[in-house]
Amino acid sequence: MPLSLIVHGGAGTHRPADHLSVMETCRDAVAAGRAYLQQGGSALDAVEAAVRILEDSPLFNAGYGSVINADGMCEMDAMIMEGERGMIGAVGGVKRLRNPITAARLVMERTPHHFLIAEGAERFAEREGLIVVSPESMIAPHRLSESGDTVGAVALDGAGHVAVAVSTGGLHHKMPGRIGDSPIPGAGGYAEDFLGAACATGVGETIMRSMLTFRAVQMMSAQISAQAVADAVMPIYARFEGDGGLIMVDKQGRVGFAHNTPLMPVAWIDGDEIKAQMSR
Ligand code: ASP
Repeated sequence: MPLSLIVHGGAGTHRPADHLSVMETCRDAVAAGRAYLQQGGSALDAVEAAVRILEDSPLFNAGYGSVINADGMCEMDAMIMEGERGMIGAVGGVKRLRNPITAARLVMERTPHHFLIAEGAERFAEREGLIVVSPESMIAPHRLSESGDTVGAVALDGAGHVAVAVSTGGLHHKMPGRIGDSPIPGAGGYAEDFLGAACATGVGETIMRSMLTFRAVQMMSAQISAQAVADAVMPIYARFEGDGGLIMVDKQGRVGFAHNTPLMPVAWIDGDEIKAQMSR
């Protein structure tokens, strides 16, 4: 079974001056996830590790570097899902968590629930020993003036399991309390072992209406590659008049990605190498 992992740094635009560092950080994220896969770790471990690297970078709209809402605060959403049992963990509207994706994983593994929001999610994460910071310290200086891009990862591990992780600050100047597609299964991400996994980025309102990743995963089969599905689902997404894109991995370990925005940085395992590019 080939080990597969692909990450994205958000459908949208990045400043030309940042392109090299964006691709380098996406590569670092793949390297971090690949290390888990190579040691026999799970697809879940791999996608969480990859997304944590992107959350820690101010270049992306997730974790530190998240965009600000209309109140000038970061309000973040994240979700993780595994394809064996369809287990899900998600957090929404959190302001004080340095790594929302790890909080999402803990929701999945250590609570009877799938989705915690706001203060309840933060209190739970704090009890679990995660880093909890002041809301102000999550705001990277450049975010006061710019929008940015969500992050995500999908992987297939040596045992044949798939997983997806997604983390975002949402849309720049969104209404306080707004939740996007990212923490919603079937919208921001979806994983099903018999088919594959997908992770979306773009305007959350259109992604959640189109159930983009659920659709994409249901279109997968042994006969059609992840790339062919990614290409085929974009015209359907266009009917919902959204800007965005998605990354995918299929059961055979083939990766695919597509977007209708100018850029969507991606990096993925390609044999012994890690490839990265800013757009398709
Ligand atoms: N999908 C995210 C949201 O709407 C934003 C993004 O992907 O850039 O919250």
